[in-house]
Amino acid sequence: MSYQIAIDGPAGAGKSTIAKIVAKKKGFIYVDTGAMYRAMALHMIKNNIDGNDSEKVAKECDNANVTLKYIDGEQVVLLNDENVNAFLRTEEVGNMASITAKNPTLRKKVTDLQIELANTNDVVMDGRDIGTCVLPNAQVKVYLTASSEVRAKRRYDELMAKGESADIKKIEEDIILRDHQDMTREISPLKQADDAVLVDSSNMTIEEVADKIISLCE
Ligand code: C5P
Repeated sequence: MSYQIAIDGPAGAGKSTIAKIVAKKKGFIYVDTGAMYRAMALHMIKNNIDGNDSEKVAKECDNANVTLKYIDGEQVVLLNDENVNAFLRTEEVGNMASITAKNPTLRKKVTDLQIELANTNDVVMDGRDIGTCVLPNAQVKVYLTASSEVRAKRRYDELMAKGESADIKKIEEDIILRDHQDMTREISPLKQADDAVLVDSSNMTIEEVADKIISLCE
């Protein structure tokens, strides 16, 4: 069986930063499942689909083909064969992803691909439902969190570094709303798996968190 490290947690907890470091150290591939949901959301936005209209979203899933490839270890998301990495990290796409991720047809499509990837590669996979639903037998499961204040501040600093303007209060409000949507949805809600190790990164450095996860693999 392949080796599977599952990292779940709320928006902005640092999952992708940590998962990339752990994947590099272990020589595994990193699967950013949020990016898959974001690519599906981007498709819905481009086609003017109302994210809350579950029938329309389900139907439109047939026209959205998401695949992953790796270039120099970096995950590239292809939406209908087009590299969409540059369009995925906006607040608009993130907020839409949280709405369309409630859709069972969309979730099945995306999780089938995740399971296939994890069956054929050693993976560090991050998301919301990896330890609970997608990879229930993962050898290592982590629930990575941090306070909403710390998460908003990290996101704010990221945007500032890119020279973008941002309102930290609005970022925190969006984070709290997204957590609420992700934790209360009917299918695959965000929650800590019974056998996951809880890591609160509020007062930890990136290296400390990565080392902690690596130590769980030994
Ligand atoms: O992690 P990221 O912010 O990129 O995820 C975007 C959205 O995709 C999340 O807010 C969540 O609603 C959804 N998602 C999910 N299950 C996952 C990964 C992401 O429902 N495994």
